[in-house]
Amino acid sequence: MIGGGPAGSAAAITAVQCGASTVLYEQSRFPRHKVCGEYLSPEIVPLLAGLGVLDGVTAANPHRLVALKLHFPRNSKTVRLPESAWGFSRYALDALLLGRVADVRQERRAPAGGDVVATGRRASNVPRGNREFGFKAHFRGPKTDTIELFFFDGCYTGVNGIEDGLTNVCGLGPESVLARYGFQPDELIRAFPALCERVAPLERVMDWHTTGPLAYVQRDSPERYLAGDALSFIDPFTGSGILSALISGMSAGRSAALGEPPGKHYRRCERALRRPFLVSSLIRASIRSGLADLALPLVPGSWLVRWTRPRASVVD
Ligand SMILES: Cc1cc2nc3c(=O)[nH]c(=O)nc-3n(C[C@H](O)[C@H](O)[C@H](O)COP(=O)(O)OP(=O)(O)OC[C@H]3O[C@@H](n4cnc5c(N)ncnc54)[C@H](O)[C@@H]3O)c2cc1C
Repeated sequence: MIGGGPAGSAAAITAVQCGASTVLYEQSRFPRHKVCGEYLSPEIVPLLAGLGVLDGVTAANPHRLVALKLHFPRNSKTVRLPESAWGFSRYALDALLLGRVADVRQERRAPAGGDVVATGRRASNVPRGNREFGFKAHFRGPKTDTIELFFFDGCYTGVNGIEDGLTNVCGLGPESVLARYGFQPDELIRAFPALCERVAPLERVMDWHTTGPLAYVQRDSPERYLAGDALSFIDPFTGSGILSALISGMSAGRSAALGEPPGKHYRRCERALRRPFLVSSLIRASIRSGLADLALPLVPGSWLVRWTRPRASVVD
């Protein structure tokens, strides 16, 4: 198994549950921060239980989120979430998951045939100027039970509570816009009044982390089991990336352990991920074109939530 993010850890834990022995190679030292909105949708709970980390997550007191507020330049819209979700840092989540893997080696590894490859997003081949980058930092200050998403100028930024009294601020945008603010997220936030007002009572407690360029692609490999973002990077707007990573990681771990051909794993993942990938691609195009301001307020919130969720039942 290569990669110790949610997909790789899920694959390794599942492979052991299926009776195989595994070694997981992760190049970074954990725990580590990761650019992520740190939003966990409710469908993830049974998967965390199956992977043996649910008690650890609940003991760390994830922040409960019951509503989603979408802010557009001219209006806003609040949706009550069908089930409550969690804000929980990747610092804690990824360490809990990797902590369940018995044999972890801190080493960069080149994939070979038969490997589970969960190495995260691929490099983007989008030309300079049109590329997208992400940023995130933790803040301290008053928290709410709403995850707020601010859309402006082809960018969006999410603000939500996580554990330990912290709030995560995470966004992404095209480099043409980020360059106007010297690639300084604080400057970007200051330029957009609703976001600036939301962040004003909060105090940043870490340096900004950045990532990118982002590549929204799906791919497979006839001789390896790709999982997580290495298989399919879904637009972060959906808050479904970690859920998708666990589903595809569990599928890859099971197939690799049982000696199933990679094609069987990819067909399972296709059933789980096709719809959210298509819907989120449409939403991303509407954000980039500025149409989201007009179109998204018209879409019922429950549809947005349902259409962007992968089907976890494929790994039951
Ligand atoms: C701006 C932004 C906001 C997001 N917000 C959310 C959100 O709110 N909710 C959500 O569910 N998802 C969100 N996502 C998506 C989510 O972060 C990813 O889907 C998730 O991290 C995928 O997990 P993974 O295990 O596939 O990859 P990763 O988490 O990237 O893990 C891959 C691991 O592989 C290791 N690695 C890479 N190459 C090698 C190698 N050769 N050898 C050894 N180790 C290697 C890396 O060090 C890394 O630890 C967001 C993404 C972005 C960019």
